[in-house]
Amino acid sequence: MDARKYTGIVEDCCCDYETVDSLNEGVLHPLLQDLVRTPFFRYFKVKLWCDCPFWLDDGMCKLRDCSVCECPENEFPELFKRPIQYGLSSDDLKCQEGKPQAAVDRTLDSKAFRGWIEVDNPWTLDDETDNSGMTYVNLQLNPERYTGYTGPSARRIWDAIYSENCPKYQSGEICQEKKVLYKLISGLHSSISIHIAAEYLLDEARNLWGRNLELMYDRVLRYPDRVRNLYFTFMFVLRAVTKAANYLEQAEYSTGNLEEDLKAQSLMRQLLYNPKLQAACPLPFDEAKLWQGQSGPELKLEIQKNFRNISGLMDCVGCEKCRLWGKLQILGLGTALKILFSVDSKNHPNKPLQLQRNEVIALVNLLHRLAESVKLVNEIGPSVEKTVEEF
Ligand code: FAD
Repeated sequence: MDARKYTGIVEDCCCDYETVDSLNEGVLHPLLQDLVRTPFFRYFKVKLWCDCPFWLDDGMCKLRDCSVCECPENEFPELFKRPIQYGLSSDDLKCQEGKPQAAVDRTLDSKAFRGWIEVDNPWTLDDETDNSGMTYVNLQLNPERYTGYTGPSARRIWDAIYSENCPKYQSGEICQEKKVLYKLISGLHSSISIHIAAEYLLDEARNLWGRNLELMYDRVLRYPDRVRNLYFTFMFVLRAVTKAANYLEQAEYSTGNLEEDLKAQSLMRQLLYNPKLQAACPLPFDEAKLWQGQSGPELKLEIQKNFRNISGLMDCVGCEKCRLWGKLQILGLGTALKILFSVDSKNHPNKPLQLQRNEVIALVNLLHRLAESVKLVNEIGPSVEKTVEEF
């Protein structure tokens, strides 16, 4: 059997699966892996305790693995004062479980993350400017993985997303924009499932974590469209990042740790102007083809509303850690949508792209999540499929 199952061009993209895999393996994933570990990209500001705007909360998941370790108030200054910090020490990696909930130090924004403006995103409901209830989370201490969140609460969210906001299109559907929204959500869903399977609690008594390949196959690999949608979403977000290259190159990645901040800036440049990427896949997604029909503006408003609803649904996720990563990744997708569809620098040169710091952190972390999922599918997908077929 050919180990490579997915061949041909990734949908709406200019390069094929093989090229995406080799670029990801050799360039994108390693760069992103280093980037998300820098102080600028590892702290995400988030409101974790909001009421679900659509139905009465069905209660939070009480399992240990659902909870988020927050950053204590003094973490930022202390962390930034350390001379050089590549990666995290084992002390840092100890979960801060049981500590009192950290209040947000509101001076952090001006002390640490300088130079960023506050601006609205028409695609999401998240409002970074409203500080009440916001907290900072160190993403390196809270990896996206299996939490045990399952059952009716989780199912209700996915059902509401698919049935009310981005239904699976029928084969005759011609509206490209609706297809794009469905594929983005389905691709993100695949990525979440792959991370659950890649870091699964195999034995609770011994706290043994590892890969659950059966789950990866059952939820994603056995459905070729879910895998294709994952690659599509990866290319879509990559296009948004490279389209915003001028903005992202000049942005201020300052956290007070000069060495690490210069590293973040340099890695960002390597990602944005990568010669291998530009040669092999200069246009990962062609956004110019969308919203061209007569009903383009109304359609955009309709799809924007759907996406905002999906963003609001993240407040209904009944597991803190899933809510954290759900909010981050939906904000990342909303940022990609804003870059690709809400800024028209040709026709409106006076309205240049403006991004919030949290949007950039979400965008880059989302791209990293997707790159990792694509890497896992490419590396272990063929052997899992072979094993299943041999049974
Ligand atoms: P689900 O993954 O819940 O899927 C529900 C249905 O959606 C499936 O039956 C299928 O019809 C359809 N579907 C599944 N995948 C796709 C796809 N790729 N494209 C299109 N349709 C699809 N759990 C964790 O352990 N860790 C997490 O970090 C985590 N994060 C979450 C974040 C969010 C926003 C949500 C809503 C849930 C999260 N969960 C997390 C729960 C997890 O996603 C599953 O809901 C749970 O594990 C139960 O899985 P399931 O087998 O019932 O199928």
